[in-house]
Amino acid sequence: MPATNKKGTSAVWAGEGDLNVKGAVTSPIANSVAFSYTDLDEWHQVATGKSDGFIYSRNTNPTVAVLEEKIRVLEGAEAATAFSTGMAAISNTLFTFLTAGKRVVSLKDTYGGTSKIFLDFLPHYNVSAHLCDTTHHEEIEAEVAKGCDLLYLETPTNPTLKIVDIKRLAAAAKKAGALVVVDNTFATPINQNPLQLGADLVIHSATKFLCGHSDAMGGLLAGKKELVQKVFHFREINGASLQAEPAYMIARGMKTLELRIERQNASALTIARYLKAHPKVKDVFYPGLETHQGHEIAKSQMSGFGGMMSFALDGGYDLVEKFLPKLTLVHLAASLGSVSTLAGPPRTTSHVELTEAQRRLLGIPESLIRYSVGIENVEDLLGDLERALAGI
Ligand SMILES: *Cc1c(COP(=O)(O)O)cnc(C)c1O
Repeated sequence: MPATNKKGTSAVWAGEGDLNVKGAVTSPIANSVAFSYTDLDEWHQVATGKSDGFIYSRNTNPTVAVLEEKIRVLEGAEAATAFSTGMAAISNTLFTFLTAGKRVVSLKDTYGGTSKIFLDFLPHYNVSAHLCDTTHHEEIEAEVAKGCDLLYLETPTNPTLKIVDIKRLAAAAKKAGALVVVDNTFATPINQNPLQLGADLVIHSATKFLCGHSDAMGGLLAGKKELVQKVFHFREINGASLQAEPAYMIARGMKTLELRIERQNASALTIARYLKAHPKVKDVFYPGLETHQGHEIAKSQMSGFGGMMSFALDGGYDLVEKFLPKLTLVHLAASLGSVSTLAGPPRTTSHVELTEAQRRLLGIPESLIRYSVGIENVEDLLGDLERALAGI
């Protein structure tokens, strides 16, 4: 790859050309389960890890390696490895390091699936999980100091875009001898690099912004080589591996990541400011707004505030039911981070399994709408919101 420290360039070039297809300007999809050798000694060298090469695609695959190299470079990591989904990346990482008797400290506002691992699955393996109030930094520091093997963070969070100070909490974790893992899905490596803020490992649901087109699923992990190697070993044995075809789709999406994120950063800020001033909108959650509780921390650790926001209408869920179908430039669907705008109520999407009272405890009003800004023209998105708000 040509020498550069620019993310936009790395996103296009990193990992490309490593596949030995003469003259190919894009890395082809290596749909091969196994890789053959004529020289048995060479095969043995590769199989025992003494020289580079591919053996079997549950372990490593050339197309998957292109994708892994892209995230490794964009996150400034020593190593990276890929998984079949974001949840596979998260669960493999947690189950690699959290063996019986260990203790994990995390946040109440982690992604729903992650929260289920902490509350429903890890306890079966005699791992204790303590979930803190997400923005209560003193509480998190105190819990870490009590004894902690792994601190698991996510920022900004879903769906109210809470911000936690990665540098501050990573320092507390280091003192306690704990590993720090950060889910960087919402920010993307264009807006935030947790490893540079003290994290040991960074995780992505590549299904979202990295792929960017809602047409492939994957997960990625990047960080210190020794740690990534351990999770890789767990993954190659339990089999949550990424296939070549989705790896190609995600790597293809990542070539336009910087363009998309810059556009989504700008559009989201414009839309958040517009909604904030609208009389029918009660509250807007976007870290780019000066009034957002985590704005100062976000400014210090993010280079852009991202394409995700949420807003509460001035009313109850009945108003959401009237409002959402009036929008024409959105897919009312789960997921986020796509070229097209996606919206939905947490009550139906991310927090469907919680009761209304539980959602209230997390600060999620029933009139909340999560809005993932796409790459459409922002004037069109504003017009769409304007018309729908005028109709309620
Ligand atoms: C979607 C998401 C995940 C899970 O990723 P999948 O690819 O759906 O398994 C994890 N964390 C965050 C923040 C997400 O948005």
